[in-house]
Amino acid sequence: MKLENKIAVITGAGKGIGRAAAELFLKEGANVILNSRKKADLDSFVKENSSYKNKILIVPGDISDEGVIKRVIKGTIDHFRQVDILVNNAGFGIFDDFVDSTNEDFDDMFNTNVRAVYILTRDFLPYMIERKQGTIINIASLSGKNGVPGGAIYSATKHALMGLSRSIMFEVRKQGIRVIAICPGSVNTKFFRKTASELKNESMLTPDDIADTILYAATLPPNATVNEIEIRPANPKKQ
Ligand code: NAP
Repeated sequence: MKLENKIAVITGAGKGIGRAAAELFLKEGANVILNSRKKADLDSFVKENSSYKNKILIVPGDISDEGVIKRVIKGTIDHFRQVDILVNNAGFGIFDDFVDSTNEDFDDMFNTNVRAVYILTRDFLPYMIERKQGTIINIASLSGKNGVPGGAIYSATKHALMGLSRSIMFEVRKQGIRVIAICPGSVNTKFFRKTASELKNESMLTPDDIADTILYAATLPPNATVNEIEIRPANPKKQ
């Protein structure tokens, strides 16, 4: 097993990419601390993975709320005493014409996609620095590297996440900590509000593809790191 007894925190683990990563991490021997807004999703995860229930701690709640962030950190340290891997995955996008967007859309997306990542990373890092090891994996997006018509604010949050990732990477790698941004293209999850018929000609990545990439990032040899991975469908249009 590639992650035997590692302690991994995954935000946004109720569905999609985070849930697939949580399942894979458990199979690879990790203990997982899982956050997501909807408690029912985390409860169903525990039920489906009941053979691992002693290795799962759930902390439901909106990760943009500082009280929830504190509970994630306290729960992790109280139960497992340390943290090896932090996967900042929780994120969402509101897509609309830029002129129709609102201050509230802006604040909501930045508070989850950037501010929560900032606080979680800042407050988990001292535990990693103390042990001179740890891996922080930020789920960014190809939207963090390109402009997105109809998704300016989402794209701005992911650009901000790329800046955070790269800057922190340079700062903490000398302390033995890796910071890796993963930039997926289209992944078939609930993130997409398109209908099945709109999606039928698009070939998309699966949550398992991204989970495999997260596992790869979490299991690099100790002397090596990558700072960024772009992953996209091999063939964007079905033939
Ligand atoms: P998803 O299927 O919608 O799942 C997102 C998960 O994150 C859900 O469990 C959701 O909980 C949770 N979440 C969202 N906001 C949260 C918050 N404030 N606090 C706690 N949990 C929160 O989406 P996904 O596709 O797996 O997306 C995961 C990450 O990948 C996001 O950061 C997204 O930006 C990024 N990404 C996705 C794609 C794609 O094509 N799908 C491409 C590039 C990057 P609720 O359901 O309760 O809201």
